[in-house]
Amino acid sequence: MNPEMQALLVQGAAAQGLDVSGQLDRFALLLKLLQEGNARFNLTALKSDRDIVIKHFVDSLSCLRGGFLDGELKVLDLGTGAGFPSLPLALVQPRLSLIPIDSTRKKIEYVRATAETLELTNVSPLVGRAETLGHDPAHRDGYDRVVVRAVAALPVLVELALPLLRPGGLLVAQKGPITEEELLAGRRAANLLGGVVEEVTPFELPVLGDPRTLVCVRKTGPTPKKYPRQDGLPAKHPLF
Ligand code: SAM
Repeated sequence: MNPEMQALLVQGAAAQGLDVSGQLDRFALLLKLLQEGNARFNLTALKSDRDIVIKHFVDSLSCLRGGFLDGELKVLDLGTGAGFPSLPLALVQPRLSLIPIDSTRKKIEYVRATAETLELTNVSPLVGRAETLGHDPAHRDGYDRVVVRAVAALPVLVELALPLLRPGGLLVAQKGPITEEELLAGRRAANLLGGVVEEVTPFELPVLGDPRTLVCVRKTGPTPKKYPRQDGLPAKHPLF
């Protein structure tokens, strides 16, 4: 990673209260591995070093805002794609135990190989759909947090994530700007699934100033057994 990219990463992290100076070599390696992965199979839409540093690395680190991911927590990253936000989170928060999941095998194979190369022992990637894992006793009610970035609208995320959370656990959804309509649909879905939208925090992505929202949904009670519905239905026919 050239000095300009290093400076961007340090600046973007510092704007969010994070010091990544001890992790610059591993972020540089992550950038190199992502660029190599992109050349072999189209892993992410972002191709330039600058876009990857700001829109993947700094953006992923914004999930740490508000302290919802502080502590020794078991965190499922729903729809991780090429490992975001899991891999940057694992680099700066070694106490988190991260389980990135994705339905696409080649993405998870890349994330697994990358986590191994980075010697991230706190990352355990898994191929699977949230709808299936949500009915698997090994995963249902099994996580302190579900973190998610760029996967679906809030009511869909609520249906996919709440079954996976232990009562008291939190869905931490990092999103772009959210409409009142989406928020209302998310609140209704949370109510049905045994949860409540607890915090909605608008903020700006450092350096670029793009609007973002961190939405936290608390699981307050048990999720009815019929949720999540079968594979694909939550996104195809959202509850609200
Ligand atoms: N979170 C990543 C990021 O921020 O760059 C990837 C976002 S990508 C747009 C969405 C990913 O979610 C895809 O890789 C897709 O395979 C995965 N996905 C969508 N629905 C899913 C589901 N129900 N269960 C597991 N993975 C899912």
